[in-house]
Amino acid sequence: MVSRRELFRDCMEILKDRDSAQFDARCIFEDVFGDDCILHSSDEPVDEKTESRIRGVAHRCAEGYPLQYLLGKWEFYGLPFVVGEGVLIPRQDTETLVEFVAEYFKGRRGLRGVDLCAGSGCIGIALEKQLGCDITLIEKQSKAFRYLTKNIALNKSRAKPMLADVLLMQTADEFHDLDFVVSNPPYLTGKDMKNLQKQVSFEPSEALYGGEDGLDFYSEITRLWEPSLRPGGMLCYEIGAGQEDDVSGAMIQLGFENVRFIKDMCGIFRVVYGFKA
Ligand code: GLN
Repeated sequence: MVSRRELFRDCMEILKDRDSAQFDARCIFEDVFGDDCILHSSDEPVDEKTESRIRGVAHRCAEGYPLQYLLGKWEFYGLPFVVGEGVLIPRQDTETLVEFVAEYFKGRRGLRGVDLCAGSGCIGIALEKQLGCDITLIEKQSKAFRYLTKNIALNKSRAKPMLADVLLMQTADEFHDLDFVVSNPPYLTGKDMKNLQKQVSFEPSEALYGGEDGLDFYSEITRLWEPSLRPGGMLCYEIGAGQEDDVSGAMIQLGFENVRFIKDMCGIFRVVYGFKA
């Protein structure tokens, strides 16, 4: 039988073409053996069934299939989320939005908000945990919605799931006097979709493609959801690289004030926010 140390080395070899080989191998091992890193380098034998499972995952990952889908779960903002085909994988970039909104409203009670195009529910659930707010997570795709409801349960969150199309007026009409609207809508352009990294190509295109110029959702959401905010309420988006002028322009045109940007940890403008007049 192979030892954990030998198997870990083999996994590193299988994953060698990936920049994140060591991190990936650690994630795979942690998934099977738990958190204890020391165990990765122990002489303890690994039974054949576990060995072949681990090798299988490492090979699929080396071929470019998302590790997050292989593991079936991923962490976002310190919380666990179940993921799989049909739902966008929570990304660290998106923590920029959560951190900003959580900090902005810190200590405020009785807040009401919505998370549009909620996907796995990572934004809305993290905000509910941080703020104890009343928040509805709206997602249109039934596959993604199944993950959303699982993640609410997994995190024992009071966030409310809603299966609906955020681009329909009747959906927005159900909400009034909101303190905030947050969204990480699909924002990739037609060109981006043709040049997707292999890993991203396994994620649902409905969660990625934002129309030819990537901006379809921003203009529509801004227009449709402005009436659902209270005066002074905040609209806050995650955006793609270089979209800050177009998105802020659409917001200003619809009367939003104090429109500002925030950079992510790579120095890219990742969040745009503003307030209803
Ligand atoms: N951030 C994702 C990517 O780079 C896109 C997610 C989105 O469109 N909201 O692939």
